[in-house]
Formats: sequence, structure tokens, C-alpha cells
Amino acid sequence: MDNCLFCRIARGEIPSRQVYADDDLFAFHDINPARPLHVLVIPRRHITSLATSTEADTLVLGRMLAVANQLATENGSPDGFRVIINTGRIGQQEVQHLHAHIVGGPDPVGPMLKRV
Ligand code: 5GP
Ligand code: ZN
Repeated sequence: MDNCLFCRIARGEIPSRQVYADDDLFAFHDINPARPLHVLVIPRRHITSLATSTEADTLVLGRMLAVANQLATENGSPDGFRVIINTGRIGQQEVQHLHAHIVGGPDPVGPMLKRV
């Protein structure tokens, strides 16, 4: 995915404030943070969304969650955090490269969603 924004960030072609990287994952601060901690964890390999992920992505999906606690603890949210994965049109996903938002900080993050 030559022109995918998050593929380009993971390759270092577009600058970001990196907080974690390994062979499979890349994590960086959201450019427009919603909470004092707001990082995005992405697979380096392009996956469009949870809706298009397959059985072959199981390991990397698990690893995205497995690093969340470490990222939160190291970046100012040691007492918990929230993971959000917006998916597709209904989930109002804006960037079409799978990403988990890790949000937190010193204070509770607020209600999960407005109830209908
Ligand atoms: P979505 O709505 O797709 O779940 O979230 C996309 C997130 O990516 C948004 O929170 C937005 O602020 C963030 N974002 C969009 N473009 C960039 C960028 O160029 N750099 C960084 N660091 N974050 C971005
Ligand atoms: Zn991509």
C-alpha cells in the first residue's frame, strides 16, 4: 500500500512521535489527542480494518492488545486505559489501515458511548 498514510508512517516516510516498534507492530501518538494519553497501535503489514481481517491476522491482532498495557504504563496511564478500534462506515473509521486507539491518562476517560 504505497500511498496508505499509516503504512507510510510505519515505514518512517511520514514523521510521527513513535512510542513502540517491533517487527510486526508500530505505535505512535495520535496527532489530535482526545485524552492526555492517545496512541495508535498498527500492524506494519497493511490490513484495512477489522472487517477485512482474516484468520491469518490472528497473531498480529492479539499482539496489538498484548502491547497496550505496556504502552499505557510507559506513557502516563498506569492505572488502566481504554482500547478502541473504529471499524468501517458504522464504526466511523477514518483512516483505512487497522489501528487500535489506546486512550487514558491520570483521570477516567469518560462514558463509553452515548446511549441511544
Ligand atoms: P479513526 O477515526 O480512523 O479511528 O482514527 C484515525 C486517527 O488517526 C484520528 O484519531 C486522527 O487524529 C489520527 N491521525 C490522522 N492522521 C494522522 C497523522 O498523520 N498522524 C498521526 N499521528 N495521527 C493521525
Ligand atoms: Zn496501510
